Amino acid sequence: MTNSIGKGWAAGLVSAIKDPKNCIISSEDAVVIRDKYPKAQHHYLVLPKADIADIFHLTLSHLPLLEELYLLAQNVIEVKRCVMDDFKIGFHAQPSMQRLHLHVISKDFVSDCLKTKKHWTSFNTELFLPYQDVTTRLKADGCIKRLTKEKIQQLTTCALECNQCEFVPKNVPDLKRHLFDHWTQKR
Ligand code: AMP
Ligand code: ZN
Repeated sequence: MTNSIGKGWAAGLVSAIKDPKNCIISSEDAVVIRDKYPKAQHHYLVLPKADIADIFHLTLSHLPLLEELYLLAQNVIEVKRCVMDDFKIGFHAQPSMQRLHLHVISKDFVSDCLKTKKHWTSFNTELFLPYQDVTTRLKADGCIKRLTKEKIQQLTTCALECNQCEFVPKNVPDLKRHLFDHWTQKR
């Protein structure tokens, strides 16, 4: 289904993909750009050229397109000489920007742009929908349903937890220091 004529900041991605300088790789139907405010060392967005507003506008007919987005996600990881295991690939359950976009993000989460608890929970709780879960749900239900307000509230207020060990940080700065330590140990 097509819609969304971009307006204001929420249309930033629609404008970004129009500029060839932003395009890392592309296919006939989709493009990969760098996330302007990366929440990890590697953070890319894969967007369809077609005007699909968000995951809530996906239908079964979009499954081939989703496969193409996923292929490009794999390609950009290869182009950057990284490995799939170090990445999360999926959609935000509550997107803020217009135009469907698949996040391709390294699991280090070491970035100055990662500032808030919401930034963390959006990638590290059920607020992040892995690509495979989205296609499974589409095949089962024919659409992607919104989370309830209660569920979103629960996920955004849950305790912080490291994604690489059992550590439970006191707050976001504590988490960021801890993530930085993991990252430096791996390098
Ligand atoms: P979402 O919460 O899934 O809608 O994520 C939108 C993503 O777009 C965020 O990760 C932002 O950092 C990123 N972003 C916002 N504006 C731009 C832009 N103009 N170019 C590239 N990425 C952007
Ligand atoms: Zn840890």
